[in-house]
Amino acid sequence: MELLKRKIVEEGIVLSDQVLKVDSFLNHRIDPPLMLEIGRTFASLFRESAIDKIVTIESSGIAPAVMAGLELGVPVVFARKRKSLTLQTDLFTEKVYSFTKKEESEVSVATKFLSAGDRVLLIDDFLANGEAALAMARIVERAGGQVAGIGIVIEKSFQNGANKLTEKGYRVESLARIASLADGNVSFAE
Ligand code: 5GP
Repeated sequence: MELLKRKIVEEGIVLSDQVLKVDSFLNHRIDPPLMLEIGRTFASLFRESAIDKIVTIESSGIAPAVMAGLELGVPVVFARKRKSLTLQTDLFTEKVYSFTKKEESEVSVATKFLSAGDRVLLIDDFLANGEAALAMARIVERAGGQVAGIGIVIEKSFQNGANKLTEKGYRVESLARIASLADGNVSFAE
């Protein structure tokens, strides 16, 4: 997606050869017209996949997921990272090793928001080693649903998440694929 790539080049900050910071449009401040375009692109990629709902993880997956949900006309469920006082039982909980925080945490979704037979589109902001996407997939599958696709805003193709997910048979669509962050520069795949 050209608009997204341009935004990454203009505003992305390469923190190391492994980590890209995009807090000016995705991870802290959010650019709504860009999110709408991202939602439309995901919708056009997955329109034929008979999606029933979208699952993402708070907080940075929510904006692109909501726009995709709006375009596809389906609800969006976000996995929560902390169990709230009002949400303590009847949960599907899975462990995730966080690439950016370098620690294990848990994500949970209330069982009432997932149903057996659901065809689910998973959406996330970044794909690194695939841990977040795999945790979401385990939750959907424990509920008896099916992962119909995985939509990623920014894939770091030099890490092994995309391969891992594809090898498991999931369809992965990434809107920007980064081949390298070496020497402070963003290089895109293809
Ligand atoms: P994974 O679970 O695929 O290893 O990592 C994906 C998750 O880690 C995403 O949900 C995202 O929050 C975070 N993440 C991974 N790499 C980056 C990065 O380079 N920049 C930012 N901002 N977040 C990242």
